[in-house]
Formats: sequence, C-alpha cells, structure tokens
Amino acid sequence: MAMPFVENLRTSFGEEPFKTAIIAALHTDEGFTGWGECGAEIHPGYSYETMGTSMHVLSEFLAPALLGKRISDATDVPALLSATRGHPLAKHAVESAVWDALAQANGQSLAQAFAAHLPAGHESRGYANVGVSIGIKPTVEETLAVITKRLGEGYGRIKLKIQPGWDVELARGVRKVYPDILLMLDANSAYTLADADHLKQLDEFNLLMLEQPLGHEDIYQHSKLQPQMTTRICLDESILSADDTRMALELGACKIINLKPARVSGYTESLEIYRVCVEHNTPLWVGGLMETGPGRAANLAFASLPGVTLPCDISATSRYYAQDLSEPPFELQPGSRINVPTGLGIGVHVYEDRVRAAAALWREQYPYQQS
Ligand code: MG
Repeated sequence: MAMPFVENLRTSFGEEPFKTAIIAALHTDEGFTGWGECGAEIHPGYSYETMGTSMHVLSEFLAPALLGKRISDATDVPALLSATRGHPLAKHAVESAVWDALAQANGQSLAQAFAAHLPAGHESRGYANVGVSIGIKPTVEETLAVITKRLGEGYGRIKLKIQPGWDVELARGVRKVYPDILLMLDANSAYTLADADHLKQLDEFNLLMLEQPLGHEDIYQHSKLQPQMTTRICLDESILSADDTRMALELGACKIINLKPARVSGYTESLEIYRVCVEHNTPLWVGGLMETGPGRAANLAFASLPGVTLPCDISATSRYYAQDLSEPPFELQPGSRINVPTGLGIGVHVYEDRVRAAAALWREQYPYQQS
C-alpha cells in the first residue's frame, strides 16, 4: 500500500511523499482477523529488505509456512518461520498478525498478551511515554522553530538527527534556548571511531543519549567509543536480536537500547530483548518505522510495558497521516503520553476499504514496482 504523508518525510532514501508498507491480514478458522505491517521501503536504504523482496518472501515462504497450522502461542511463530533466514521486517508482519488474532481469540488486549509472557509486575501502564524526532534542517533557527512547535504540541522529548558538520553547533544552539529539555541526538551511523574526539564535545550538552554514532552493523567499535564519552550511547540499527543486545551490553558498547520490533523480526524477539534489558538494568525505548495504524497500535502496546523506561518514537497519527488505515487516531495526551487502545488485540478498527484504496494508490504511484 501507499498512503500520503501530511508532509514529505525524509526516509533513508530521500524525501518521500508516500508511506509504503505491506499490510498482512491473517484469518483464522474461528473468524478472527489479525493485522500486521511490514515496514519495508522501496529502496534498501534503512534495511536490505524492500517492498519487492518482502512481497516475494511473504508470499512464497512465510505465509505458506503458517497456512493451516494450529498456533496456540504467538511465541511459537519464529520456529515455524525458521526455514527462512533473515528478512526480519517481513517476519514481523506475519508474527504481528498472529499476536493480534490470538489476543482477540483469548479475550485479551495485545498489551495483556505481551505481559502474559513476562514475569508478574510487568503489566501494561496503559500508555506509552513518547517523544518526537526532527530531521536535519538547513539552519539552527529553523530547527529551533520546529522544536518550539513540537514542545507546544506537548511532546516532552526532542530527538534531532545529526551528521558530520551538523552536530556540536546544533546542540550548542539548541541548548542556549532550551537548556533543560529532554534532548537526544541520532547519528544514524554517520561517524567512525576516528571521530571520537569530535563526538566527545557533545558531552557538555547534557544529552539524554547519542544514538547509533558508528556503523550500522557495528558493536565492537562502539565498545571503544562508549568508555571515552560520558554521554550514554544508544544502539539502534546494530541490535537485531537478544543475543546482539547481550553482547552490546556486556562489551560496554552502549548503555541504552532502542528496540524497533520490526527490525528484530517481531514481538517474540522483542520480549527477549526486553528481558535482557531488565536483567542488565538497562534503559529501553521503542522506535518506529512511521507505522500506519495497525503497526503503531501494536508498538504502543509494547511500549506501555514498564521495562520500557524512556520516551519512545511513537507520535500522534496527525503528525504523519491525514487519514490512517484504522480508527480511532492516536492522540497526544498531557504528559507526552499516548494511550494504548483498550479493545481486544491491537484495539483499533482497521478499515478494509481504506487498505484496498491504499493498495490501489500503491499500484498507481509505483507502476514500475508491479511485476
Ligand atoms: Mg535511530
């Protein structure tokens, strides 16, 4: 599907007018429909997976591996998909659909289903603490104008994207006007270990964290950088599993984890990462891939678990879409929170006619993708 963004958003490939995704609907023989979302982009920029590879892997391998199977626990899904290596974004879509359908069948919200797989005391708070991410702007003044707007909307944590040449002066300029806001920077792998002395200058700005400064697959070099900085490093792109999380924390490569459930192939692995972070007393937060309603609802449910201790990159629907695939829209609440829907499963109603319209828009806007 393709769905218009309210404003062109910068993806890993460039400015995009449309959100693209593959929406998975899973129908059970008891009449439940579970929804999942594959957040692959058209180009292999954020991930090696694309809309094209995901359609191929979903239809040829992942869907057939589940069809006709009796599944009583969503954490059994990864084993059913294990004949396919990699492709976490595609796996996440079908696993999410199973989580949703099973939660409905068991009379649970998705948040309750997640908590049922954790020790007592990890029940959902009913809301997620959230913040907002701001892309690279031409000037510090323009960045400050957006920060002021987002703070006015009620977002309590600001994340700024940085890159070489757009980092220390940006942080200094923002701190001059906003000395006390919760402020973090995300480098999306734009630096190397040779930049360590430069990055250390960021320590004076009392940042909540510095996200993914070095290579997108690297853990080892981050373990050389973190001890040189007082700012806590958060790993995002290089954490693909609970094993990666354990390695990163035990090597001292980071002190915070950004969990994108799609990036780690789903909520089963996400729950493992959650447990590793709890064991290591490590702050955890949930990032996103600008999900549509069904994907955002599921991420919100996960982000409402109490081991998710820092504000998450989950914004209100209106920040991205004029009309979403589902209702009701997600709205920012006082205290920079978004409430988790209370219904069964993902708790929002997905409109199949909107999904079909978005699929038609995809075919119309990206005809060269239709094979
Ligand atoms: Mg990031």
